[in-house]
Amino acid sequence: MGNIRLLPDHVASQVAAGEVVERPASVVKELVENSIDAGARRVRVEFSGGGARLVRVTDDGCGMDREDSLLSLERHATSKIRSASDLATVATMGFRGEALPSIASVSRFRLTTRRRGDEAGTEILISGGKIESVADSGEAPGTTIEVAALFHNVPARRKFLRGEETESARIVHQMQALALAHPGVALSLVRDGRLLWQAAPAEDLLVRVRDLFGSGLTDRLMPIASGEENGIAIEGLIAKPGEARPDRELQFVILNGRVVQCPAVFQPLREAYAEALAKGRHPLAVLRLSMDPLAFDCNVHPAKREIRLHRPDLLRQAVYNATRRSIEALRNPPPTVPRMPSFSPAPALERTAQRPQLAPSDAAFAPLPQLDLPAVPPATQATLETTPEADFRLIGGLSDRWILMEGSDGLVIVDTRAASERILFETMRREAAAGSIAVQTLLLPTVAELTQKDAVWISEHLEALRSAGFHVESFGGTTFKIEALPACLTDADPEASLLEVCEVLRSTGLLGSEKSATDALIRSVSRVAALNGFLYNEDRARRLVRDLLRCELPYACPQGRPTMIQWSLAELDRRFGR
Ligand code: ADP
Ligand code: MG
Repeated sequence: MGNIRLLPDHVASQVAAGEVVERPASVVKELVENSIDAGARRVRVEFSGGGARLVRVTDDGCGMDREDSLLSLERHATSKIRSASDLATVATMGFRGEALPSIASVSRFRLTTRRRGDEAGTEILISGGKIESVADSGEAPGTTIEVAALFHNVPARRKFLRGEETESARIVHQMQALALAHPGVALSLVRDGRLLWQAAPAEDLLVRVRDLFGSGLTDRLMPIASGEENGIAIEGLIAKPGEARPDRELQFVILNGRVVQCPAVFQPLREAYAEALAKGRHPLAVLRLSMDPLAFDCNVHPAKREIRLHRPDLLRQAVYNATRRSIEALRNPPPTVPRMPSFSPAPALERTAQRPQLAPSDAAFAPLPQLDLPAVPPATQATLETTPEADFRLIGGLSDRWILMEGSDGLVIVDTRAASERILFETMRREAAAGSIAVQTLLLPTVAELTQKDAVWISEHLEALRSAGFHVESFGGTTFKIEALPACLTDADPEASLLEVCEVLRSTGLLGSEKSATDALIRSVSRVAALNGFLYNEDRARRLVRDLLRCELPYACPQGRPTMIQWSLAELDRRFGR
């Protein structure tokens, strides 16, 4: 008995028209989604020639009988919706009934399918949309679809395809996204006869991520604080502070089980990291969102990649808050949780090549009481909080650039410059918000003769400079009087440090990307001040670590570089071959 029916015309016309098949990766997406809709537990994808020569998808799903398999190749034939009102709440991946006929019309297409229990299966061969043969076949239950010579009959479309490597990379990325959206389904990907990866069914998203990308990546992720806000449930994995990429390759958004592109997610995600990531960097993220299907329209793009949210602001807010909570939880472990989420700030992917010896460890910074500092403030009965610097034992300094400590699970190395920068930045930002940046008034004002370019810039920003601690007055022309400096620049030469701050602002492009010139200046001042260098002694080291751990975002400097890294005991064991 057939399951597939033709959509009435008026329903078909409500389905936005357009091409489903842009490139081999879109064929992969449509076929795998069909397999998943068919209840497959196991899907194998093979391709060659960047997918243009061949894409073959084999599943163990429900299969089709003869009638349905023929009907599945007719336009607007779908087993998944029956009326226009179903469109709003569709729960399957497909519903437009367009993919198979579209693909079959631009390729050499072979479908074999058999329902469990049926004696014979069906094989259908189509070329350029014309059915060439329909025959019995005796395959295993399930469906296999082979798409060969994609666009062989549409040269213009074929020319539009990029090189084999690019198309292959798109298929791999598409498969990663599908695998993340459907962790319960076993998936494997084979390129030119070689298995690229296979992922067993996984309850846990982290396991799936590891199967796809390796444990190098899982070490760089932490769970997002899950919860529900504005009717939107969020779960998934996001980057630990400092873990980012210059592109969005590793950002996946899955909405109600469907991979989507959604700027309303990316933007608040990035904002929530604030300066815990360097400028222009994007956090890694796999976000799984669920919300009422009536809250968005998923039928705005022929490949259903994009969605239209009725209230994007609600989603933005939910993503921002969940991300923010996760980052803040690194700093304030709840007293009942014995360990902080695993955190090992490591150089970002693209930097690991330069620092191969600093392999990120898999261990965690534990919540720490005191670093033999003066008495711990008495714990109130409500919080019983440990102070952040707990559990670290100071070992010593290393060439004034690093502080070595024993943590609860190994060696912790603090970068003194990145740490100072973070501390100064947060201190100045707090002071600026209160309108009281600490300044040091010069006994004798310095008169500085500037270049035309610097002079113009400085006279345009006198107000911002003042709120960042530089009291500068124009003396006419290119001459300026410097009366006070931010307190953290105390020992510096006033003119040189003013120019250096301006230079940092210009060279980093901070100005313009910041909300205000004062913020940009504060960032530059803390950078310049941190360049002054750290002279190791025990007291300074303790103070630096204590101040760092009391910061809002202690694990990365304002430019997003890690302030500390950890080598776990397990990692040390491994390296010494114990
Ligand atoms: P849609 O997925 O939008 O319904 P498609 O053109 O992708 O449209 O598929 C048409 C129909 O063919 C589906 O509704 C489904 O009934 C059937 N079908 C496609 N692929 C499979 C498969 N792998 N296993 C079982 N049935 C399938
Ligand atoms: Mg489909």
